[in-house]
This record gives sequence, structure tokens and C-alpha cells, in this order.
Amino acid sequence: MEAYNFTEIEKRWKKTWKDKDVFACDLSKPAKKYYTLVMFPYPSGDFLHAGHGRNYIIGDAVYRYFRAQGHNVLNPMGFDAFGLPAENAAINKGIHPEDWTLKNIERMKGQFYDWGMGYDWDKEVVSCLPDYYRWTQWIFLRLYEKGLAYRKKAYVNWCPKDMTVLANEQVVDGACERCGTPVEQKDLEQWFFKITAYADRLLTDLERLENWPERVKTMQRNWIGRSEGAEVQFKVEGKNETITVFTTRPDTLFGATYMVLAPEHPLVSALTKGTPQEKEVASFVNKIKKQSSLDRVGDNAEKLGMDTGLKAVNPVNGRSIPVYIANYVMMEYGTGAIMAVPAHDTRDFDFAKKYNIHIVQVIEPADEVKHAWKATGHLYNPQDEPYTDDGKLVNSEFLNGLEVEAAKKRMAQWLEEKKTGKAAVTYRLRDWLISRQRYWGAPIPMINCDKCGWVPVPDKDLPVRLPRDVEFKPTGESPLKSVPSFVKTACPKCGGEARRETDTMDTFVDSSWYYLRYVSSKNSQQAFDSKVANEWLPVDQYIGGVEHAILHLLYSRFITKVLKDLGTINFDEPFRRLFTQGMITKGGLKMSKSKGNSVQPDELIQKYGADTFRLYTLFIAPPERDAEWDDRAVEGAFRFLNRVWKLYQELMERPDFAAGGEPQAVTEPDKEVRRKVHQTIHKVTQDMTGGFKFNTAISAMMELINLLYDYKDSPDSKTPLLREAVETLIRLLGPFTPHVADEMWSKLGKGTHILEAGWPVHDPALLKSDVVEIPIQVNGKVKTRVTVPVGLDEAAIRDMAKTNENIKKFVTAENIQKVIWVKDKLANFIVKIT
Ligand SMILES: [Zn+2]
Ligand SMILES: [Zn+2]
Repeated sequence: MEAYNFTEIEKRWKKTWKDKDVFACDLSKPAKKYYTLVMFPYPSGDFLHAGHGRNYIIGDAVYRYFRAQGHNVLNPMGFDAFGLPAENAAINKGIHPEDWTLKNIERMKGQFYDWGMGYDWDKEVVSCLPDYYRWTQWIFLRLYEKGLAYRKKAYVNWCPKDMTVLANEQVVDGACERCGTPVEQKDLEQWFFKITAYADRLLTDLERLENWPERVKTMQRNWIGRSEGAEVQFKVEGKNETITVFTTRPDTLFGATYMVLAPEHPLVSALTKGTPQEKEVASFVNKIKKQSSLDRVGDNAEKLGMDTGLKAVNPVNGRSIPVYIANYVMMEYGTGAIMAVPAHDTRDFDFAKKYNIHIVQVIEPADEVKHAWKATGHLYNPQDEPYTDDGKLVNSEFLNGLEVEAAKKRMAQWLEEKKTGKAAVTYRLRDWLISRQRYWGAPIPMINCDKCGWVPVPDKDLPVRLPRDVEFKPTGESPLKSVPSFVKTACPKCGGEARRETDTMDTFVDSSWYYLRYVSSKNSQQAFDSKVANEWLPVDQYIGGVEHAILHLLYSRFITKVLKDLGTINFDEPFRRLFTQGMITKGGLKMSKSKGNSVQPDELIQKYGADTFRLYTLFIAPPERDAEWDDRAVEGAFRFLNRVWKLYQELMERPDFAAGGEPQAVTEPDKEVRRKVHQTIHKVTQDMTGGFKFNTAISAMMELINLLYDYKDSPDSKTPLLREAVETLIRLLGPFTPHVADEMWSKLGKGTHILEAGWPVHDPALLKSDVVEIPIQVNGKVKTRVTVPVGLDEAAIRDMAKTNENIKKFVTAENIQKVIWVKDKLANFIVKIT
């Protein structure tokens, strides 16, 4: 008997698959197509560890399952290859970012090969190569034409360590998402994508994404942050200016006793110019600009403000109210100005107390609140505490007595009648800042001419190539500025001397459309062929980490919608189903090289083989949940494969095994084996289609093998039944452990790869047992258990009692009174006690 020589088996099959190009997908045959995709990785300098393996292994199991089901499956892979780590490594190690990146890609591809991944490498995309970023630039130009890419001066997030601006989505709790440094605000002119124009669609279309995890949709909803309210205009006293605020509480307008402008608000310097406060205001503004957003709006941030000396008129009652500037109001949110109602907002209340501003109550607490307060002896005084819950309007003239919701509507109506405001909706979502002052990215294809202003690079001149020889140390300015041959160019419009934009694009632009390029990866005429894209997309199954819930997944949805509106594709959501895998931990911590707790797949593969690595990764836990790595359990997975191998080898030695033959079940053990085989097919198929319950699918196969071990050693075991069972098991193992499955499959004399062997189908008639074991009671006490045919009636159970030794002792024709017969469940013989 041959031992399970996984090294030799795996080496041979990997080579065969490669030589025969078995993972190639013919895009010209879209009938029964299936597009499965794992988020493309960043080719970092580190080896992929076992924790990284999870989403790729899940993706590969999905791919192989759909192939076996007879689908034409596209399973491509590529690399998200621009970005800071390559540049930082280049600076630290003195290697060019391109060389470093391409070397890492080769190494990563080697790892994927070792793991037995079924990628169609013919479709590979690498975002840092000109044949890819040319089309990233082309997409930029399409957005520019539509007014969706624009340049503006704005207060933007600046990471002082990475020396580049960041998108709002890349700032987490006030710090740089990448390096954790608190982010500063800088007033810079930058390129933006107008994602806010799609806020409403990005929000409402989430409803259609039924096969996306609820938590991802919730995160996107919160990020887009739709709120309803009103815009209100406040006239500035003695000036010909109005300040517009957005408020979600227009009902409280009678209680607005001051207003606050963001220090960056353009009206601040305009309105204080020439006033006695001018200097003081300017120095306050400078002080706030130095604060990080965490210092300004974080939970423990100190509220700093200053009275500008200006007064505004509350439009609803004509009262004159002071205008402050304060750190907690950000220019990037709402209109950069707020009306403040200290009686009913905690932040406004704290600020009013600190600066001694008038407080006017306009909401009377609801009765049940007052009752509850009474019980505890709480006395409400609007001068001592803010009241932020529901109630009825007071001190508000025409709103008095109304509930909050009704008052909001009434006030919006009043504002519209008086032409001093209107009902409005606002979003938390800001436009996407896409320019970066770093080297390793796609150049923004724009040219600046003194005569013509900003002029787009004509499509025929794409790609704007990233020059190779650049001093790329970050200085806060784009390194491309120091390359005259790049900067100096002719204006495409007037032919005069002009300068290229030297900022590069955020790498999230590269990844916002890559799933489209896979179907046209070799196309040198177009970003993607619309016909092929419409046939193959949306992606049927997308797999990746939940950390991309907002950044990548929101940007991709946005770009897809833009491309649909441009008429280049006919779908407006890129990913039909989304699966987000849980994280793998070791010692309770996320596996990582820096924590020293990462498991190296190469070592595992050497010791147990790639099939064991794959099987264990899928068996570890429900795939959407976090899971703790356990070296001992890896051995368990290895033992299981050895058991499968040994059984198969043993059966191969039976002289009648090769012949096969009809699997005829005669005895009850025969029937049990057939039943288990078909139950296992049923279970594994259900688990693969209903939420990827790989772990329970594998458990079912383990149960089957245990039963087969018992059965094969019984003297009556029938080889054709064992043959059916083993063939089924091999096919079911195909998506999980493809090397050993192909080895066994081929030796069974099958001419195909397991990938193309078809998926077994269960026979529903065989799922159910035709016998059942039931307890037999006498006067309510269990005396014995018997196996009876399913559906037996009472007369038959009475007959059976007459012959069964264990029952005969207690039940006779003389003492029997009645039988309580619960069909297929139990029999209770009631007898007279003598
Ligand atoms: Zn940073
Ligand atoms: Zn010009």
C-alpha cells in the first residue's frame, strides 16, 4: 500500500494544472458564467502568513465548487501595486519602488502556486504598470469631463509623517489610517472626485444588495450619513451678508441664542476685516488651524471659542444674537456654520455656560419624563442642564403646543414662506480627495497652462508615464516636481509652454475599477470591452476583509455608477454578493509578523502539504467569524486526509473494486452506508450554497469516513457500495483538497480533472431511513428498545410484543389493557398489575 506522499502528489498536480492551463476561462462563452473574485492584494515585502490565507482559500473553494457545478467560472488575480509601503521600503532599502513591487509580486505568485490556487493568470492586472494606469487616467478624464473631478482649495487632512493629504475615509479617529499619526488640517488646492453627487444613490441602492453582510451596509449608511432638517439664513447686522446654517432641529429656532462659524469659514475674515476684533480673530483662527481634528471634535476635546463681535438676526423673532467662532465647528461638515440652542443640545449648553451666553428653553419635557423626575426628586431648570429628548414646544409663538416632529415641519414651511430658509437634506459624506503628494502612484493627467488654465491630457497621449529616476523622499511636495522633463510640457490647447500636474492619484482610485479590467486585461484600445463587461459583470461573488467596508467598497460602487451613467456599462452595482471573512488569531491576537505570532504556510506545507493547510483553514470555524489558530487541530485535518487516503488505497487492492458495479443495498448496514453518502452530498451542497459553511461540510465528510471504516471491515460489506461512497467523497473533497482529490480521481480511471468531474447529486429518496429505533415502555418505564420499519401501525406493534423476549416477560394476552402508540416514536404497554 502506498503511503500518502503529499509532497510528490501536490508537486505533480500543480505542474499538470499549469501545463494544461486548466484554470483558463474562455470569456467568449458567457452562458452559465460565474465570476468569483477575492480582493486583490497589496504586494508587500512580507510573506503571506496563514492568516492571510483564509480569504484566498475560501475564494478558491468557491471557484472549484462552481466549476464542478458546470459553470464557466472566472477566477482572476492581480495586484494593487501602487502606494506608500513600496515607496517607504524604497527609501529604507535603497530599492526602486517598481523593482521592489515586481519582486514581491513574483514571490506572492509563488505562494499562490504552492497553495494550489486556481487563478487564470492570463487575466492578471498590476495597477502600477502603464498598461493598467493608463486606464485609471482615462477614467479620471471621464470624470473631469462630467464635472465629477474638480480642483478646489480646501481644508484637507494632512498626515505629517507620510507628508501627504488623505481622504476623509483614510482618517480614523482623527489619525492617519496608515501610520496612526494625528492628522492636521491644511489649506491646500487639491483634486477631488464628486462622490457627494451620488450620495443619495449610494445610500438607496444599498437596499438592493440583499447578499451583502448587514454590518457592511450599516457602515456605509452611517458613513454617507443622511440627515433631514432645514437650511436657515441669518442676516449679519450692519453687513450685506447672510450666514446659512443647516440644522436637524429647525423646531428649536426660537431657542437659538448664538451662532458659530468654523474658523476656516470664508466669511470670518471677510466680516471681521476692519473691526476692532480683526487681529484677535486672526490669531485665534491660526491657533485652531494647528489643532488636529481629534483635538477639535474628539470625545475629550476642549471647546474653544471666541466672540467675533458680530451680531446676526434670528429670522424667527428678529433677536440679535452673537456670532462666535469655535474649534468644534468644522468647515467640511454641513455649511461650516451652526445655530446654537443651548437649552436642548449638550455641546451648545457647555459652550454657552463657558462663555456666559443666554439660554432659552423651547421644549417642555414630555409628561412621562416629568413623572420620572418627580419620583426621584429631580428639579429641571433649563439654566442648569440641557434637555435633549422629545416634548412640546414652548416660548415659540406659532409652534407652541406642537410636538417636535410637527414643529419641524411647521417651521420648514414658515421658513419657505418667508424666503429665509427651506427644508433640506444633508449628508455626512464629503467629496473624495484623490491627489497625493507622493511618487508611487498614477500621475493625474492634467496640464496647467498660464493662458488656458487646467487642460486635460488628450486620450491619445495616455498614459502619462511615471518617470523612473526620481528622488522620491517625501518633502511635503510631490517628488515629481523635481523632474523637469516630466513637469515641462506643451499645452494641448494652445501649444504654449505648460506644466504637468505633479500629484499622483490615491491608490483607492486604482482599485475602484480593477474588477472591470480582468475581462479585458490585454486590451490596448480600451479600459474594458463594454460587451464583455456587460456579459461577465457584476461580480457574482466578492470576497474580502471587512476593513474595506467603506473605502474600497464605497469607491467601487461610486465609480461603477459613474461608468454606467457614461453609458460604458449597463449595471450600476459592481458586486452582487459580498462575503467578508473573519480574522485568524493566534494567542488571541491578530496574526502578524510584527507581533511574532504568524504561522508560515511554507513550513506547514512542508510538514503536512497544501491540502492540509487548505482543509484546516476551512475547517477552523464558520468562515465569517474570527478564529484562533490551533497547531494540534492542523494535525487533526492531516489525520483525516490520511484516513481518506488509506481507505482508498485499501479498496484499490480489492480485486472487484475497479469493476465498480451497481451499488445494491440489501442489509441494513448497506442501506445505512448509502443513506449516509446521499445525506453527505445533500449537506455539503447545502453548506456550499447557503453561506459557505465549509466547517460543517467538512464535519459531514468526517462522519462519512468514520462510517465507511466501520462498514468496510464487516464481512458483508459490498464493494460497489464502497466504490460509490469513495467516488462521492473524492468529488466532495475537490474544492477543499484539490491535489489529493485529483490524484485519487485519476487513479480511479477517470479521464477528467476533479474540477470538471461534475458535482454529485443526492437522491432524495435515499435520505430517509426506512427503519427507526424506538423505546418500548411498560406502564411508563422503558424496558427495551427495538428497531422497527418506519410507519408501523398499532396492530403490528402489538404483534411484535408477542414475540419479543424482553416484552413477553411483562405483557401477556391476559394483563394487557391498552397500548399507547406514538408512531415512529414510542410504544407504551399499559398492563394490569397483579
Ligand atoms: Zn500617516
Ligand atoms: Zn494653453
